[in-house]
Order: sequence, then C-alpha cells, then structure tokens
Amino acid sequence: MPAGRLAGARPAIVNAMDSAVPRAAYVHVPFCRHRCGYCDFSLVAGRDDLIERYFQALGRELARVPEPLCLDTLFVGGGTPSHLGVAGLRRLAAVLQDKLILAAGAEATLEANPSDVTPELVEVLREGGFSRLSLGAQSLAPATLAALDRNHTPDDVRRAVEAGLQAGLTVSVDVMIAAPGQSLAAVEQDLEDVLALGGQHVSVYCLTWEKGTRFASLLRQGLLQEAEEDLEREMYELAIERLEGGGLEQYEVSNFARPGHRCRHNETYWDCRPWEGFGPGAARFDGRTRITNHRSPVTWMHRILSGADPSGECDQMTPEEAARERIVVGLRRRDGLVRGEFAAASGFSLDALAGGAILSWVEQGFASDDGQRVRLTRRGLLVSDGLWAAVLGQGA
Ligand code: SF4
Repeated sequence: MPAGRLAGARPAIVNAMDSAVPRAAYVHVPFCRHRCGYCDFSLVAGRDDLIERYFQALGRELARVPEPLCLDTLFVGGGTPSHLGVAGLRRLAAVLQDKLILAAGAEATLEANPSDVTPELVEVLREGGFSRLSLGAQSLAPATLAALDRNHTPDDVRRAVEAGLQAGLTVSVDVMIAAPGQSLAAVEQDLEDVLALGGQHVSVYCLTWEKGTRFASLLRQGLLQEAEEDLEREMYELAIERLEGGGLEQYEVSNFARPGHRCRHNETYWDCRPWEGFGPGAARFDGRTRITNHRSPVTWMHRILSGADPSGECDQMTPEEAARERIVVGLRRRDGLVRGEFAAASGFSLDALAGGAILSWVEQGFASDDGQRVRLTRRGLLVSDGLWAAVLGQGA
C-alpha cells in the first residue's frame, strides 16, 4: 500500500551519463506550530526563536554552490514553510535568490498549512515566482482532523484552496486515509469534498506508524488502532476510483493530477535526474551519490554555522543497484517502464535484472507487458510495496 509522502520514494542513483548540473532543488523549512502525533519529519515545533539562525545557516549552506543554479523546479517543503508567514517568506526568497534562479516557466512549489494561507501570503508567493501551493489538508472532516492531531479546520482548507486558485496557482491537496477510527464512508465523503474544491492535484497517503512518534507509542499501549489491511485497501481503491472519476489521472502510486498538472519536481526524483537539496534532512544527488544532511535541525544549524560539514548519510550505489532502484521508482509511475528507455538510461537490460519477477507479476495480474512497456495494473498498485523485494534482492 502507498505510504509516506510526496517525496518519500527512495530516489535512485543514475549512471554517469545522466550526470549534469541539477535543474531541480529542494529546500527544507523545519518549523511547525506543533508536531502532529504521527509525524517523524525533520522539524522543531514551537521553536520560532530558531528561525533567524535557520536563515543564517541556509545562506551559509547555499554558499557551497559555486554558481547560481538555473532551476526548472523548486520545492520548498517541511515542516511547514507557510509557518514563516509573510515576512518570513519574503526573507526566505531573499536568502535563496542569489543562488537559486527560476528558469522561465519553472515550477515552484511551497508546502503550506491551510490555516496559514491568506490572500496576502498567496500574493507574496506569486511575487516570489511560486506557481504551486501544496496544502497539507489531510481531510475535510472535523473528526478525522482531530484523530490526526491536526490544528486546522475544514474551512481553513476551503479558504486556502480558494485563495490559491484565485491567485492563479496550481493547488495540490494532500489526503490521508487509514486514519484512526476513519470509516470507508468518511473517506468517500472526503474524496467528494476534495473534488468539489477544484484543485488540480491530489496526493493520497496511508497513515504510517513511524517509530518514535506519539502515535506509535499510543498504538503500543493499545490506545490507538491501525486500520485493518482490507479496509485500508478498500480506501485506496475508492480513492483511485473517485479521483479518476472526477477527472484526475493517477500518474503515480500516490499522486493524481488534472491534465498538464503533474508535479514536475517529483518527476525529477522518479526520472533519477540530479537535484540539489538544502536544509536539515534534505538530500542532494549529483548523478552518482546521494548525500543527506543531518536530520536534526539544531545539529544542522550548529554544524553549518561552526564551519563543519552538515552531511549525514552518504549513499553510493553500484551501477546495478542504481538500475534496480530505477525499476522500482519507474514502476511506481502509471506510465511504467519502456525497455529501450530503461536500457539507455541505466545501461542494463530490464529483463536481465527483473525478467523473472515481471513474468510472475504478469501471471498474477499485477503487471501488464506488451513486449515494450511494463506497467503495474490496478491490482499491482494495491500490493506494490510487497513487490519490490523481488527486484531489489534478486541477483543478476
Ligand atoms: S504540520 Fe506536517 S510537518 Fe508539521 S508536524 Fe504536522 S505533519 Fe509534520
């Protein structure tokens, strides 16, 4: 079942032939008003006193880029970037502007909490060249929002979508399913309500119970319960049916868009192209190696401002490992993988790496294969997380 969030899929390492100056960048803003009970992202809650220090550290980190980057996509995520407010977003734009330049027609996304979005804030986004607003709505049902420990209301979501659309932004709405106590009927109502908002993009995520979160601890104590697997599957199938019925094409396991509104930034990850990343927990990828910054905001700031390296993990894969990852991220997309394109990009034959797995998926109805293109079927999407071990673990 789909899990995690928009940029959650582990990106692949590409071959040297794909190496290039990145045309995409991610900036992580690690501030939230409060930490939702299920959230394990890199952030601090209720520590606005650190915002100034964050800007200083971000400016310092950007200084490692020798020349300004010309970007086709920029994604400012978090945390809650909109928590910076109008003045903070102006400041952020000023910090970024020397090193991150938006190309003509670039896509620039800001993640926002619906309760932060005002016409004034949207105007500041437009001034800064942003073209997309990604709203952490999760639900329009008061009971589900309360169950998810969210601090905004359904009316906040409605107002935020309206403000974004009126300003001419592409609006994306995150929807959470399998929330504690959520029924299939509640999901159905949420989907109807989300479609009625008129946004161009929807991301659907299943609640995950991450170690170390308050929800995980309540689960252990028996104070919260996970949704049954069958119910979770029904909810996801319902989401596909309703959103596609409402004119949004499912173009990736978790993502749905009206024509022309796919998230181009995430397509960079799924295409395994290079990207830059700044801020705590942000990853960058140069075509060979993926380096992830330390995920503690305080440690990241301290390291940068004291002249130390803020990097945490460094992930270097062999070309074969990279090709196997390319299969996984490629098959998460509804367009699937085309054998010739895969071979050209990875240097490996799809069948040499995953021929056995593909054959068995086709036999079980999980994939279709016309000899050129391999795609997961609806049935395959439902069990996709269980399929990847056969690709990642299989010997050449
Ligand atoms: S608002 Fe988003 S990033 Fe912040 S704590 Fe809640 S889920 Fe996490």
